[in-house]
Amino acid sequence: MLSLSQALKHYFGYDCFRPGQEPAIAAALANRDVVAIMPTGGGKSLCFQLPALLKPGLTVVVSPLISLMQDQVVALQARGIGATFLNSTLGWQEIKARENDIFQGKTKLLYIAPERLLSPKGLEFLDAVKEKVGISSLAIDEAHCVSEWGHDFRPEYRQLGSLRRRYPDIPILALTATATQRVRKDIIQQLSLRNPEVNVSSFNRPNLYYEVIPKQKQSYAQLLQLIKRQKGSGIIYCLSRKKVEEVAFRLQKDRILALPYHAGMSDAERTENQTRFFQNEVQIIVATIAFGMGINKPDVRFVIHYNLPRNIESYYQEAGRAGRDGNPSRCTVLFGWGDLRIVNYLIDQKENPQEQRMSRQQLQKVVEYAEANECRRKMQLSYFGERFIGNCGSCDNCCNPKPTEDWTIEAMKFLSCVARCEERFGMNHIIDVLRGGVGKKIEQYGHHLLSTYGIGKDKTVDEWKNLGRSLVFQGLVDETADGYSVFKLNAQSWEVLKRQKQVFIPVNSAPQTSTRKFEAD
Ligand code: ADP
Ligand code: ZN
Repeated sequence: MLSLSQALKHYFGYDCFRPGQEPAIAAALANRDVVAIMPTGGGKSLCFQLPALLKPGLTVVVSPLISLMQDQVVALQARGIGATFLNSTLGWQEIKARENDIFQGKTKLLYIAPERLLSPKGLEFLDAVKEKVGISSLAIDEAHCVSEWGHDFRPEYRQLGSLRRRYPDIPILALTATATQRVRKDIIQQLSLRNPEVNVSSFNRPNLYYEVIPKQKQSYAQLLQLIKRQKGSGIIYCLSRKKVEEVAFRLQKDRILALPYHAGMSDAERTENQTRFFQNEVQIIVATIAFGMGINKPDVRFVIHYNLPRNIESYYQEAGRAGRDGNPSRCTVLFGWGDLRIVNYLIDQKENPQEQRMSRQQLQKVVEYAEANECRRKMQLSYFGERFIGNCGSCDNCCNPKPTEDWTIEAMKFLSCVARCEERFGMNHIIDVLRGGVGKKIEQYGHHLLSTYGIGKDKTVDEWKNLGRSLVFQGLVDETADGYSVFKLNAQSWEVLKRQKQVFIPVNSAPQTSTRKFEAD
């Protein structure tokens, strides 16, 4: 019997496991349910591929995109591993042949889309496979798609929950590159996982340099300059199809090899442009977010957001398409107030008030990210509940730090106000109490009677906000945000309150948001 690392070497030729792989694989081999959360490029596939090879029977892999399936199957077949997919691109004879191979036990991994799997025929087929060769596990790739709280909810994924009821004894492996706490919980609940091994790898991508640059009036010229300083492949993300077309066209005129990519183009055109990008015939792809999941070009050297990202999570994903080969790469956001106005307008158009509120909150986080003087890496990771300590040495704010000031006293005021308000309120209310506001809400809760009422009149609202955000990024207070933001104290907050910890924050020299002029886009 091969040891795990021998099996890794034997089947895949790798010398060692990446962080998070081994515990997930061990749990899968013990027939436990698994949730593996790893950043893009972290090596999620191996977590179900290796167990599939070591266990008897077929592993069924649910995957949302045909291109993803094909890539993985081709890669496995190249290693001599029996893998196949079933989807609508195949003729019925081909499907029969593949099904036959499965029944004869020649196939270890079957990739399939959720709607196909869950169709009456799909389930019938699954029953037959289970009967004849056995099913070793169900692997659900891109598992965040089951959650409405994620950034890519797919209703057909939600139906996957029925598989547990139908096949209670088949272990389920859920894999994703994106999951906030909330989405994690949702995955476990929606798929009815039983005491799963939950493995969260670090989301830090040390080879990526993050920066935010204020967008100038002549924003296209600025973009061109940014592109010219770069070598290698790049992705430019824009908000609209129109903008994509326009930017690609102007770049071409400026003798930059660039092609557009957006959902309004035909499949054929998109595939063609993507292929030419992959084969380095063009340097740049200008894209809407339609250019997303499944983009696996390892040597993308830079990603520029010409317009604002929709939220931090998408930003992390989109920027994360850079540097998958581990080499240094640059992620730039061009931040303009004109864009903000457009996104706000788009949000106003939404009909569902709940959705509107969530979008607004997410946008607010993006603005905070763009405006902050904190380490960009720290901010991104804190969004995923991960703490990053110290200077990352690879973002604009760490490389050109703004001066910091000792705000321990103010932090103590802030945190004790959070405590006095019973950890049930968010930024605006806490600041309102600190500054001695006279609103209805304050009176309603009797917060004008608190000892912290009005003790922060010496600082402006923006200064308090700067502190509050900084406390969150530094992990000195927790902020839950399921629609409304609420501050909760954590162990570190108490250290501050007990004077066991000093608080330094970057002082914001930037002009204040509310008074800043919009600029042309
Ligand atoms: P993800 O699905 O998490 O984005 P993949 O599973 O596609 O990532 O893996 C990314 C790359 O890393 C692939 O080329 C894969 O072959 C490689 N890889 C995975 N695990 C290892 C390992 N233990 N050692 C070396 N390379 C690995
Ligand atoms: Zn940093």
